[in-house]
Amino acid sequence: MNTAVFEKAMEVFETPQEFWEEAKLMLTEPELSYIALAGRQVLSQDEMKKLITEHGLSDQPEEMIHSLYHRAIIEKQIPGFVDPVRGLFGNPVGEDFDFNQVQRTVDEESNRKASYRVTNFYTRLPYFAQFEPEQYAPIPKKKKQALNEWDLQNYQKDYEAVILSKMDGYEEKMHQNDWLNLEEAMAVLEKNQDFIYLIPCNCKRMVYDHDKLDEVCVRFYGGPNTEFDRGHGRRITLEEAKELVLKYRKSGLMQCGEGYSMCNCDSQCCFPIEVSRRMGARLTFPRSNWKTFYNPAQCIQCGKCTKVCNFDAFHFGWNNRIEFDEERCWGCTICSSACPSGAITLQKIHHKFKNSDEEGNITFPAPIH
Ligand code: SF4
Ligand code: SF4
Repeated sequence: MNTAVFEKAMEVFETPQEFWEEAKLMLTEPELSYIALAGRQVLSQDEMKKLITEHGLSDQPEEMIHSLYHRAIIEKQIPGFVDPVRGLFGNPVGEDFDFNQVQRTVDEESNRKASYRVTNFYTRLPYFAQFEPEQYAPIPKKKKQALNEWDLQNYQKDYEAVILSKMDGYEEKMHQNDWLNLEEAMAVLEKNQDFIYLIPCNCKRMVYDHDKLDEVCVRFYGGPNTEFDRGHGRRITLEEAKELVLKYRKSGLMQCGEGYSMCNCDSQCCFPIEVSRRMGARLTFPRSNWKTFYNPAQCIQCGKCTKVCNFDAFHFGWNNRIEFDEERCWGCTICSSACPSGAITLQKIHHKFKNSDEEGNITFPAPIH
């Protein structure tokens, strides 16, 4: 391919030079040409078709637009559309937002009016790992680690200010805001029972070398630029979702939830947990609403808690007896479901924030860090 076109595409796509070789795996030559030609403009579908046809990128322009969107190389803009995922004060809405109040998928008329803009490498990379694992697999392990670290640092930049506010005692809703205990997880599924779909986890697919279950991201919203609207994911019933969450929990995956999704996280791959660890935000992000208690008198030493705990808070200690280290506990609650003897119990924590009323409603935005 023409070097100037490729370099222009890399510039538009905001691709770090160290990942240009990987970008060639993620983008076809017609896609690179499209990116270079379209730049950062918002184009109507007619303008896109004209550009694709005039430059000979495809003789089926509609299919190419569909494929560009499916592969997260372009993003959709619908005139007048207000994204419900961006709720109060511009932050993602929390678990108290009722998605039954909003239209969960994009209707035909909105799709007809939609315009599109090229995304960037940061948007495309997780999609590539998540939905094209056979193409992602051959990338050498060291390069995967470098891509992951770059992505993680960008993710941290995006959410650092919100997490700092939380650490400072303010409430600000963001994705993966709260750990969910079993009853809360089931209640979230029930609330969203009319629209549930399942996709592979981008964090787990990007890390790639692990033994975790990875088709574990449960979603309840299919609006513009979601995985569902881009043509991914599998609709599941409430019963199937409940069975899956029980299975995930048993395998050591922890539920975090909000109005539009439920993640099933682990401490090895999950970006939010790693960022929280780096920032020292344990118990604050994701917020723990449950304090864990261990009663050795009831413990039958079965070791199930040690298998599910991601942080080694429950472990075999002196004389091969179970020990619980509260300082390592993230309050995720999955050990209490795993314990067959009732030796692990939970107590609800009632948080008081600097910017919320007695009912926990946010009354003013947290100061910007
Ligand atoms: S000990 Fe804490 S971190 Fe470990 S599984 Fe139990 S609640 Fe989660
Ligand atoms: S799961 Fe419960 S009974 Fe089994 S070792 Fe842990 S605390 Fe003890």
